[in-house]
Amino acid sequence: MTAAVRQATRQRFDAPLAELIAEAAALRDSAHGRLISYSRKVFIPLTKLCRDVCHYCTFAEVPRAGKPIYLSPDEVLAIARAGAAAGCTEALFTLGDKPELRYQAARDALKALGHETTISYLTAMCALVLRETGLLPHANPGVMTRKEIAGLREVTASQGIMLESTSERLCRQGGVHYGSPDKHPAVRLETLRLAGELKVPFTTGILIGIGETRDERIDALEAIRDLHAAHGHIQEVIVQNFRAKPDTKLANSEEPDLDDLLRTISTARLILGPDMNIQAPPNLSPGVYQKLIDAGLNDWGGISPVTPDHVNPEAPWPAIAELARKSADAGKLLVNRLPVYPAYVRVADKWLAPDTSRATTTGHRATPSRHRRRWCSPAASTPESRESSSVPHRANGSPRTTSCACSRHATPTTGTSRRPPTRCDARSAATSCVTS
Ligand code: SF4
Repeated sequence: MTAAVRQATRQRFDAPLAELIAEAAALRDSAHGRLISYSRKVFIPLTKLCRDVCHYCTFAEVPRAGKPIYLSPDEVLAIARAGAAAGCTEALFTLGDKPELRYQAARDALKALGHETTISYLTAMCALVLRETGLLPHANPGVMTRKEIAGLREVTASQGIMLESTSERLCRQGGVHYGSPDKHPAVRLETLRLAGELKVPFTTGILIGIGETRDERIDALEAIRDLHAAHGHIQEVIVQNFRAKPDTKLANSEEPDLDDLLRTISTARLILGPDMNIQAPPNLSPGVYQKLIDAGLNDWGGISPVTPDHVNPEAPWPAIAELARKSADAGKLLVNRLPVYPAYVRVADKWLAPDTSRATTTGHRATPSRHRRRWCSPAASTPESRESSSVPHRANGSPRTTSCACSRHATPTTGTSRRPPTRCDARSAATSCVTS
């Protein structure tokens, strides 16, 4: 594409915000109908040490005398079991990137645990949680090699890395990623590409308001779109707004305003298409849920009834019942999903390792029976599931409302109560359901 054509294509994103939002919402509805999903999770911060020094981060810590570097296997299991008891299905492992390359204390701690690398220990902990609790691990350890992604694939349902930005400027002196080698766009894009080759359902996203230009933001979304077009593995894209935090270099920096966030969500929808799962963290934008829905998202991401958001501890999760009410106010039905989206579970022999594939359909032993439900997908997003989708659309492109083939396919959350689902208006509802 020539620069002139590219610029002309991008002019559509300059449309008045109301027009952009209306177009994005219609596009979202054409694939996802009235469903808005979330994943009920526990957050397991395996280590808070990191070799990077992103200027907005309050998650990363330095070694402190007497403070353990890694959660022990018993601590990991205790968090996972608490989550299972609260009906969670996802064990989100978020951690610093390769702290052993920076800190001797991390190398010593790993040695004591019987591992050489953080990702080796992470892989063992994912296997432990999967085996002992049935929670589905989602691993978010930063930049990975082909071998590391492949090893994690055996014991996780999905993996992820935020692309954040494709701007190399941000890695230069004065930029927010200066001093953070794992934030160089090329290495993150390579991790995303390898995950595609290895057939790993993958989560990524952009972080807005960290010094990138509008064009660089679109560059990042287009890079994600192109990777997904090549491999079909991007299961969701997060549009995360930068929040200025005390005790960071960006403490006094301006945050993106609501219109900027809404415009970016809508732009993401237009670039990534109707089927993509697009989310914005609700705890980073309290009180404006309906506006976020209107802008074209179809997912709230992971929400925990048990653990805080360790990356944004100052921002409490919304109550799930409140999110359900706000979603209903916007004409949407909040449903619970697994960390791996159903479009990938339907073709599990291609996208999931045997152990995780079994866990998506058998439920988990540690979970009380009232929570033992799996759910059915809103939209098909892999090439295979698109082909297998058999529910015809109306001539105007909107999905036909249809009863789902399975009576146990979802866990709608309405107000403060949960009730068995009876209908599904998603495009792919008549294909297959993920149930226990
Ligand atoms: S890589 Fe992640 S954990 Fe490490 S400093 Fe950057 S934002 Fe923080």
